[in-house]
Amino acid sequence: MIDTRRKAIWPLGSTVLVLTALVGGGLLDRTVVGAAVAAGIVVTSCIWSILTMRRIHAAESLALRDPLTGLPNRTLLNERVEQALRRARRTGERFTVVALDLDGFKEINDIRGHRAGDEVLLRLARTLEGVVRESDTVARVGGDEFAVLSLGTRDEDEATVLVGRLRHALRSPIEIDRVSVEIDASMGWALYPGDGATPEELLGRADGQMYATKRDINVETRRGSLDAGIVREFETALERNELVVHYQPILRLSDGSVTGVEALVRRFHPQRGVVSPAEFIPHVERTALIRAVTIFVAADALRTAREIQEHGRHLGVSVNVPYRAIDDPELAAGLEGLLTTSGVSPSDLTLEIVPTGPGAGGELNRDVLARLRALGIRIAIDDFGRASSLAAVRTLPLDQIKIDASFVHGLGRSAADAAVVESLARLGHELGLEVVAEGVETRTCWDLAFELGCDLAQGFYSAAPSTREALLEWLRSGWPAVTQVA
Ligand code: C2E
Ligand code: MG
Ligand code: MG
Repeated sequence: MIDTRRKAIWPLGSTVLVLTALVGGGLLDRTVVGAAVAAGIVVTSCIWSILTMRRIHAAESLALRDPLTGLPNRTLLNERVEQALRRARRTGERFTVVALDLDGFKEINDIRGHRAGDEVLLRLARTLEGVVRESDTVARVGGDEFAVLSLGTRDEDEATVLVGRLRHALRSPIEIDRVSVEIDASMGWALYPGDGATPEELLGRADGQMYATKRDINVETRRGSLDAGIVREFETALERNELVVHYQPILRLSDGSVTGVEALVRRFHPQRGVVSPAEFIPHVERTALIRAVTIFVAADALRTAREIQEHGRHLGVSVNVPYRAIDDPELAAGLEGLLTTSGVSPSDLTLEIVPTGPGAGGELNRDVLARLRALGIRIAIDDFGRASSLAAVRTLPLDQIKIDASFVHGLGRSAADAAVVESLARLGHELGLEVVAEGVETRTCWDLAFELGCDLAQGFYSAAPSTREALLEWLRSGWPAVTQVA
């Protein structure tokens, strides 16, 4: 590249020489012809030089920039990281490298088409550039992979804040063809000098962290990748008001008293009747539609809580939220609004975070979590013990864990399941959390869950999920087993 630049400069240099000679001569002779010839040569040479420089610049762009977004590609990013390293070794300055891999981009291509996909990438490129300083670098390093080099990072906290800002920015809805599209990303970062001394080490470290987050999404994907048809059909169901919410009681193991209810969504299909959430939630939770679903369920749940209060009882309500939606600022604002209008105390609302969803355990927006905390909303880990939920203990401010039904089912039959339930209950208590046993189907399970240290139980033994009306009736008539347990 440097050689070609030299080639472009020599005509300019020689022009200056010729110019000096000719103009000098022209002026000496005081002939107009001499000066005109000199000026002509100057102009031609300048144009030639400019065109050559432009050609070089275009060739350089092709080799070092992503043609769609115009962002630096991997080669240019590596060069910039090298430069940052040389500078940092001299000045002692720190810098951050962030690896960023979009979640659900393939789905945007599948559902909305490739043109929309390209548009999303273009807009994201500009959005990410808007977050960092001009001296920083945003690069596109793969189909749906970006990287950011941010100079002059003071400490780890500042790096985390940067990651949070990037994620917050890229999650803002993008309007394409009057449809709002949302995207998220798995991210990892590395800080120089702590995380590596070469570009390979730093980028490798950031990539490694990003892939650790991504793994959970791939586990989900292997279970069955997103079905665009199901998502589109679900959109229709939402528009037609076909969603219904059922409720399942949660009870105290020590005395059988009811402490709360979990809200569980279903679709009421005009032909097929009740459709289980297991059929659509795993697909819908990877799209922006999940916010509308969560708000719908939360609104219904708070209405139910209110109605129960009007019947003279006081119960909490639990609403399921996928891991990646818990730090969605718009969801938090929506919940705040619902709490205000319903008049239900925020401490009566528990958000159950399913820890195996996309990106479980990954970095979350601390501001949004702090806002939920400040409001007084409770947070539980759902299906605890399955897949990556242990990592979520680090990233979520928690009040409750719900031990996955698969372990509770084995109580009385499997010593291993009993050991898992007992140790998870102990872990929960050591973290100062309330412990729920999910899927308590028999009296034996109930008794063993209590003996092994669980506080609460939910399951078919006490009550299956039912409509709000059936729940109110169940609460009125009293649970038959209350007397047996008490
Ligand atoms: P989950 O949150 O762990 O909910 C408990 C599931 O276990 C419910 O299934 C419930 O009907 C079932 N269940 C309760 N007691 C027993 C029992 O004793 N034995 C057995 N075998 N199962 C029991 P459901 O309603 O089909 O929901 C399945 C999953 O779908 C939920 O698991 C949750 O992850 C998701 N889901 C349900 N509603 C929503 C929602 O509104 N939003 C989101 N994001 N996810 C939801
Ligand atoms: Mg749940
Ligand atoms: Mg569960």
